[in-house]
Amino acid sequence: MEEKVLESRRIRIYPTKDQQAYLTFNMFANIKMWNALLAEVYKPVSELDEVQALPRNKQSKEVYKRIERMSWEEQRDLFKGLRGLSTKAIYDADETVFESGWTLKDADTSMYSYTLRTLKTAMSNHLKNPRHFGIPRFKTTMDVENQGSYTSGAHVCEISEDGKYLRVGKLKRFKLGLIEMANHYPSDGRLYKVTIKHESSDTWYVSFVFEQAEHTVKRPRTGLAAGIDLNVTGNSHIVLQDGTRYQLPYDKIRKLEQKIEKENVKRSRKYEQWKKEVAIIEEDNKKSLIPKHVPTLAERSNYQKNKKKIAKLHLRIKNLKKDYIKKTCSKLANEYDVIVMEDLAVSDMEKNKYRARAITRSNFREIRDTLTYMMDWADKKIVFIDRWSPTSKRCHTCGYIKHNLKLSDRKWTCPICNSHHDQDINAAKNILDEGLDLLDKMNDSCKKCGHERTVITTDEKWTCTKCGAKNKTTPKEENSSDVA
Ligand SMILES: [Zn+2]
Ligand SMILES: [Zn+2]
Repeated sequence: MEEKVLESRRIRIYPTKDQQAYLTFNMFANIKMWNALLAEVYKPVSELDEVQALPRNKQSKEVYKRIERMSWEEQRDLFKGLRGLSTKAIYDADETVFESGWTLKDADTSMYSYTLRTLKTAMSNHLKNPRHFGIPRFKTTMDVENQGSYTSGAHVCEISEDGKYLRVGKLKRFKLGLIEMANHYPSDGRLYKVTIKHESSDTWYVSFVFEQAEHTVKRPRTGLAAGIDLNVTGNSHIVLQDGTRYQLPYDKIRKLEQKIEKENVKRSRKYEQWKKEVAIIEEDNKKSLIPKHVPTLAERSNYQKNKKKIAKLHLRIKNLKKDYIKKTCSKLANEYDVIVMEDLAVSDMEKNKYRARAITRSNFREIRDTLTYMMDWADKKIVFIDRWSPTSKRCHTCGYIKHNLKLSDRKWTCPICNSHHDQDINAAKNILDEGLDLLDKMNDSCKKCGHERTVITTDEKWTCTKCGAKNKTTPKEENSSDVA
């Protein structure tokens, strides 16, 4: 069987109020389906007398606690309950009529099979790696008016010839205006699935996933290799061994952050005002015969406007970063055949409160993941070296390790060989050398499909990114090149 690749395209859409209502309902129904499936699976636990005796709002917590205490085998047996469930049986049996007059059946029912699939994945992920993936939990529909998403099968979607309209789901004449998708994002692949997403800033997106024979973007071979130092403190946060620096649009981000701060002050002032008014009305109501209406926060339109404004500003920062990361990584993947970087444990670093802001700002995790898939798709190599290696403290010229080097010493001079170093460039040079050594040792091909390993780590076990086969590489000895 020929291997296919999946590629997605995300496009902003502008649904009308009616369309928004239907899409929101779909998101709502999706959560209902997830919860219904989960409730069926967890039934053996939630129906225990001890659990039933608790007040309703404490029951699910108790259920989680009991399942988490179960052994692996017991959990596996409990999760098996999902096998016998069909989403059709659930929406056929469910008699809830929602405010809009719709029932679960009126939603785009093909999305339910994706819900089931996601739940299956969540459960098997938990069994495989319980430390990283907790047990699946019930979802809340509380914020579904403001944000949410759902995925549906391609067979319920139809994109018009000119690429401007889309029909999705059950409503026959349900169309969405698109920014001429056909021109911007050509794909010769088969439409595989569609995800509709609503973000809290009142923006809507649709993601199309296509199944293609090969990836659209072609990246030519250059024969070059680069070491990347991800900088924590300075302004330029990607530094290459040749001194090239890449920098996030900090000025713009800082301005937006200042705006957010201002809006936050306004919002809390509005909140305090509302609380005061509520207190006064409630006090009055105690004495008067005809109680006055107590306004809720949802009725405060100024407060809500403010909230949306803040969400929009956050989205602008997010988009700025995303755009920058995509463009920078794409440029790097075009220019180099091998990229070496440190595998930073970002979560450890984020715990360090002094550096946290700088790190989350530069989105290391995203850079790492973006570069990985871009290099892998282009059949190029990305190498991750050990993150405990003293790359910034070792003099690249003579190998001397300066143990007392501080992060703040941007420039330093080696006491042994007198070389002058820029901390980042010196680190990037060491990273590149170490990466090329590791590449020599760990380079390998998949035993099943012959695809060359693209993501190189110190780990001997690796999964083929093409066919998914598990492989094991025994590192080659340092002097093996002499034998050959
Ligand atoms: Zn030196
Ligand atoms: Zn393979």
